[in-house]
Amino acid sequence: MIFNELLILFLYGISIGSFANVLIYRLPRGESPVLPASHCTKCNTPIKFYHNIPVISWFLLKGKCAYCNEKISMRYPIIEFLSGLIAIAVYFKIGLFIETFIVILIFILLLVLSLIDWDFRAVPDSINLLILTFAIFNDINNISNNIENALLFAGGFALLRFYISFFVKREAMGEGDIMVAGTIGAMVGSYVGVFTIFLSALISIIAFIFYRERELPFVPFLSLALFITWLFERDVIILLNNILRV
Ligand SMILES: [Zn+2]
Repeated sequence: MIFNELLILFLYGISIGSFANVLIYRLPRGESPVLPASHCTKCNTPIKFYHNIPVISWFLLKGKCAYCNEKISMRYPIIEFLSGLIAIAVYFKIGLFIETFIVILIFILLLVLSLIDWDFRAVPDSINLLILTFAIFNDINNISNNIENALLFAGGFALLRFYISFFVKREAMGEGDIMVAGTIGAMVGSYVGVFTIFLSALISIIAFIFYRERELPFVPFLSLALFITWLFERDVIILLNNILRV
């Protein structure tokens, strides 16, 4: 039953998305991700479970705290909904297996990392390493291959960082980017991985034209590019074969 499976995974996605919101808010502030229970950031009133239903509650509360009327950012339901969409997209590529739940988690955690990087220009190693570990071990038949590709990409990216830093005469990119590069290697391998890095650079140039900020975070672009190339892996391989005439 495709509909049942879709529903289960969508609910899984928005639930993880709800937790993603907690991580995005608390981790950069050095707060525990689990304790205390969710509370309003202004009046500190604990949030009742029926006020904490992903996506729906925000609309029922009209975007305001039920107690002090403090505005709740629209970003919360958007992130929850996006997480649901990520879950559905992953399902359409690989179907419903245990691996599916882990891959969904990887991409939602990359969304967490991207938003923290966007807000603070730095990412927590805890989440970054967790993603890399999931990426290496999620496919048990390919662990040694995944480790090899993760090392190749993390190493290659670290070298690239030395080169760019040398030429622009300041620290280019962050250490967090190196770990995400490792995740890219583990998730899509070297062939599609190189294209993923190229695509992320391309997207970041487009974003640069729009934002005109001298220093944009790179994790969001690496993550978005990985999501695209992982999802359309077969098409990317066909495209690359055509370009390179392999
Ligand atoms: Zn409140």
